[in-house]
Amino acid sequence: MFDVAIIGGGPAGLSAAVTASVRNKKVAIFDSSNFSPHLRKAWMVHNYLGLANITGEELMNKFVEHAMSFKPEVIKSKVIGITEGEGGFTIGTAGEIYQAKTIILSVGTSHSETMNGERDFLGKGVSYCATCDGYFYKGKVVAAVSTIPSALEEVEYLAEICSEVKFLPLYKLTEAPKHSNITVISDKPTGITGTDRVTGLSTTGEYQPVQGVFIFRETDPIENLLPDLQLRGKSILVDEQMSTNIAGLFAAGDCTGQPYQISRATGQGLVAAIGAVSYLAKNFK
Ligand SMILES: Cc1cc2nc3c(=O)[nH]c(=O)nc-3n(C[C@H](O)[C@H](O)[C@H](O)COP(=O)(O)OP(=O)(O)OC[C@H]3O[C@@H](n4cnc5c(N)ncnc54)[C@H](O)[C@@H]3O)c2cc1C
Repeated sequence: MFDVAIIGGGPAGLSAAVTASVRNKKVAIFDSSNFSPHLRKAWMVHNYLGLANITGEELMNKFVEHAMSFKPEVIKSKVIGITEGEGGFTIGTAGEIYQAKTIILSVGTSHSETMNGERDFLGKGVSYCATCDGYFYKGKVVAAVSTIPSALEEVEYLAEICSEVKFLPLYKLTEAPKHSNITVISDKPTGITGTDRVTGLSTTGEYQPVQGVFIFRETDPIENLLPDLQLRGKSILVDEQMSTNIAGLFAAGDCTGQPYQISRATGQGLVAAIGAVSYLAKNFK
């Protein structure tokens, strides 16, 4: 059980980790990439106070070094879902589940759009994790839609369980799948159809009758993490303490809206960590 679980290790998440660690809390950082691919792309950062003319890569490395000096637990996995329970939250990744008393969401921006029907059939045939849910589709026909080459391993795993995998890679496929029951389809998916459960996938070409649809993306739309989370447009709605509409759940950085800037992200990370610490003091004696 972590005191503070931070989802996303960019400037906002690492700043939150420093402050929560300084306040002696047991901190976990979940990060699915090499800590902020966004900031690492910045050729030169001119407006971060006290560190003029530094590359995004150098600045991010400094942030990582500082945060790691407090020895938080680092979990290099994508968080797929969060559920509220008595006494805290359960955090799900592809292979594991974790528990935390409070959560700070600092996942940055996601440009992913949900597919038509995706939300309606979540848990009713739509899944984001082959390892977690693949077994339920033993002997069945499923579709796998992927925007990331690294998910090919999950697609191959599905082929070991399912009778057929209709694979729609939304990128240039450079290696052919190994299993012969994987059918590569170059059409684009347009929507998931069904009644009480998924029955098919509409595409720009032929309709594909399937019993499940697995979707693999680098980052998911925020609302996929926690369906009850209140948004304002595409950003998480927060108050001045960076609290969301869910008690014990805080948010910081680009995921809370514009301007998308490092100083705003680090400042909000600090405020969210202080909010989490005072929530712990009030609710966990
Ligand atoms: C090219 C470029 C140049 C920029 N230049 C500047 C500049 O000069 N000055 C400035 O102030 N700002 C600049 N920015 C903006 C700045 O990079 C962002 O404002 C800042 O990185 C936001 O920090 P963040 O922590 O909110 O999100 P991010 O830095 O995006 O970090 C989010 C992290 O969360 C991880 N994550 C997401 N979803 C999950 C999940 N489900 N599970 C686990 N981990 C997850 C991601 O992998 C990522 O590591 C620039 C951005 C770009 C792209």
